[in-house]
Amino acid sequence: PERWERARIWINGFDEIVGGMDLLPAAFAQRLQSPLRMGCEVFRLEQNGDTGPVAAIYQRGDQVEREEGDCLVCTLPFSVLERIDTAAAFSPAKQRAIRELHYDSSVKTLAVAQRRFWETTDNIYGGGTVTDLITGSTYYPSDNAVNQDMAVSQGPGVLLASYTWGDQARRQSALGTPERTQLVIDQISTFHPELAQEGMVRQTAT
Ligand SMILES: Cc1cc2nc3c(=O)[nH]c(=O)nc-3n(C[C@H](O)[C@H](O)[C@H](O)COP(=O)(O)OP(=O)(O)OC[C@H]3O[C@@H](n4cnc5c(N)ncnc54)[C@H](O)[C@@H]3O)c2cc1C
Repeated sequence: PERWERARIWINGFDEIVGGMDLLPAAFAQRLQSPLRMGCEVFRLEQNGDTGPVAAIYQRGDQVEREEGDCLVCTLPFSVLERIDTAAAFSPAKQRAIRELHYDSSVKTLAVAQRRFWETTDNIYGGGTVTDLITGSTYYPSDNAVNQDMAVSQGPGVLLASYTWGDQARRQSALGTPERTQLVIDQISTFHPELAQEGMVRQTAT
């Protein structure tokens, strides 16, 4: 699958949602007839026969609530779904598929830099740096890749400082947030020393 991904996907151009990726779910949410209900933990799904009504039973604060309908689209990750009470139960084959699907681990740590030193100093506009450090790969914002506008370069930019998968991600996730963030800044500073300058990192997320 990885070879397929490299051969078929990465050779094509990319599109950008100008203004941020969260505009996509926000646009879906706007079209809904009733507002989204957040903070509801579903713990049981019920279906009455193959065509009968379905229900999701969930915890909302201290309350247990129930939502019924003609059909239900369930997008819970399988690692959650395997622990959800279902009546009637899924078929043995479905239960096995749900239980045995493997999810890989991944960690991203982002830093909001005061200015885009990688553009002004290193002439890097978009793309990534792949390393053998525990912090894996670093990716640069691509929104100034075409125009290479100096005014934008001198302003802030979000650096995907560290992107890891598998064992590397599991090692990083064993650290607490402050330790992981410091590790990332220390490691990335070995090839981007500007990141360690005082006041350079405005904010981080991991
Ligand atoms: C660090 C990292 C980086 C990634 N980078 C990329 C990338 O660059 N590009 C890309 O395409 N993909 C990326 N992925 C993969 C992508 O994020 C996932 O494939 C995608 O988010 C899966 O979507 P989902 O809706 O199936 O699950 P999720 O996004 O995990 O959504 C599941 C939702 O269910 C909610 N939930 C859980 N339990 C319950 C419950 N009992 N009741 C109600 N709600 C519940 C959760 O709160 C969550 O909101 C990345 C993943 C990770 C972890």
